[in-house]
Amino acid sequence: MRIILIGPPGVGKGTVGALLRERTNATILSSGEIFRREIVAGSELGKLADEYIRHGELVPNRVTIGMMRKCIVEVGSGGFILDGFPRTVKQAEALDEMLFELGLDLDRAVALDVPEDVVVSRLSGRLGCTRCGAIYHSVNKQPMREGICDVCDSPLFVRSDDKPDTIRERLRVYHENTAPVVDYYATTGNLQRVDADREPEAVANEILSLR
Ligand code: AMP
Repeated sequence: MRIILIGPPGVGKGTVGALLRERTNATILSSGEIFRREIVAGSELGKLADEYIRHGELVPNRVTIGMMRKCIVEVGSGGFILDGFPRTVKQAEALDEMLFELGLDLDRAVALDVPEDVVVSRLSGRLGCTRCGAIYHSVNKQPMREGICDVCDSPLFVRSDDKPDTIRERLRVYHENTAPVVDYYATTGNLQRVDADREPEAVANEILSLR
């Protein structure tokens, strides 16, 4: 399975992607998660990305495309779930070129749809695990022990870009840069739309049943 999950921040790409990985064994390539790991590692890439991420802006295309290319080459002929990439039409075009060069086919691009007020409330209480990336919510999906991951016992954290002002900026950036990516895949005929204002299990099941 090679798919792209597209949707605004908070739509549930990470949660649904994790369910799809459990069922298909495909590798999740989450550009945001890869950047956050680089930031924690203190690498040059991480330092550069941090400046953009903190402000809810996109990391420049050249940097992002180079990083994702490396990951896609590493996965080779295995399946992948792209979460957060491509986020601009330039990135989508670069991905098409990469897949062509590597002789790989994309099964589909899935646009996850959720009303904007739901997205904002999901992001406002979001908590992530510092180690395994599991996602919780302070109201809708509390961990069993406050501040501790159920899966790996590591501390939970609030992302630096999940603050109200940054959330608004990320949504603006989404409408300006990423909504056109949905149109791009609609034009190439690879697009499927899925209602993501439901339990993540239901969303993952529908994605798996798409033909
Ligand atoms: P995410 O975890 O997908 O919400 O991404 C967090 C942040 O990482 C975004 O707000 C951007 O600053 C940056 N980022 C993630 N993916 C991309 C991408 N494909 N292109 C540019 N910036 C990205």
